[in-house]
Amino acid sequence: MRKSERALKRAQKRLSRKQLGSKNRIKAREKLGRKHLRVSRQRKDFAVKTARCVVQSNDLVAYEDLKVRNMVKNQHLAKSISDASWSLFRQWIEYFGKVFGVVTIAVPPQYTSQNCSSCGEIVKKTLSTRTHQCPYCGYVADRDKNAARNILELGLRTAGHVGTSSLVLENVSGQTDLCLGDENPLSKPTGRKRNSK
Ligand SMILES: [Zn+2]
Repeated sequence: MRKSERALKRAQKRLSRKQLGSKNRIKAREKLGRKHLRVSRQRKDFAVKTARCVVQSNDLVAYEDLKVRNMVKNQHLAKSISDASWSLFRQWIEYFGKVFGVVTIAVPPQYTSQNCSSCGEIVKKTLSTRTHQCPYCGYVADRDKNAARNILELGLRTAGHVGTSSLVLENVSGQTDLCLGDENPLSKPTGRKRNSK
C-alpha cells in the first residue's frame, strides 16, 4: 500500500512537469489515473478482508462513532484517518454484521482514550502518550488497548450484555489473516459509488 502511494506521488510529480496541452501530459495523466485506481482497490481490498475477519471471529463488534470529516480537518490526524479508510471499513463491518448475524455497535468516542478501562477514572493523555498508566488503580496498558476495552464496555452496555470484556478482547488480536478468500464484487455495502475512471 505504502509502495503504491509512493508510486502515486511520483506519477503526480511527473504529470506536473509536463507541458500543458502536450501529448506527454495526457499520457502522464492516464498513468496517474491507473495508479489512483490501484491504491483505491488496495484500500478497499484491505477494508473488506479485515472487516469480514473481525466480524466472523467475534459475537459482537463495538467501534467508535468517529466523525471522520472533522478529524481529517485536524492536520495531525488527517493522514492516518483517511489512510485507514475508516468509513469504508465501517460500512463493511456493518454489512458483514448483517450478513453473519453479528451485533455491530457504534459508541460515542468521547473519553474512550482518557478513561481508565479498569477503574473508570479520567487519566489525561496527549496523542503522543502511547501507554495508559492509571495512577488511581495502577492499571497499565497500551493506549489503544485501554481505549478498546472502554469501547467494548460501552458496546456491551448498549447491547445489554454483561462484562466479559477482557475475554473478548484477548481473542481479537492476531486474527486478521484468518479469512483471506476473495470477496464477491457484488456484495457491496450501501454508499457512494467511487469514481473508477
Ligand atoms: Zn484506573
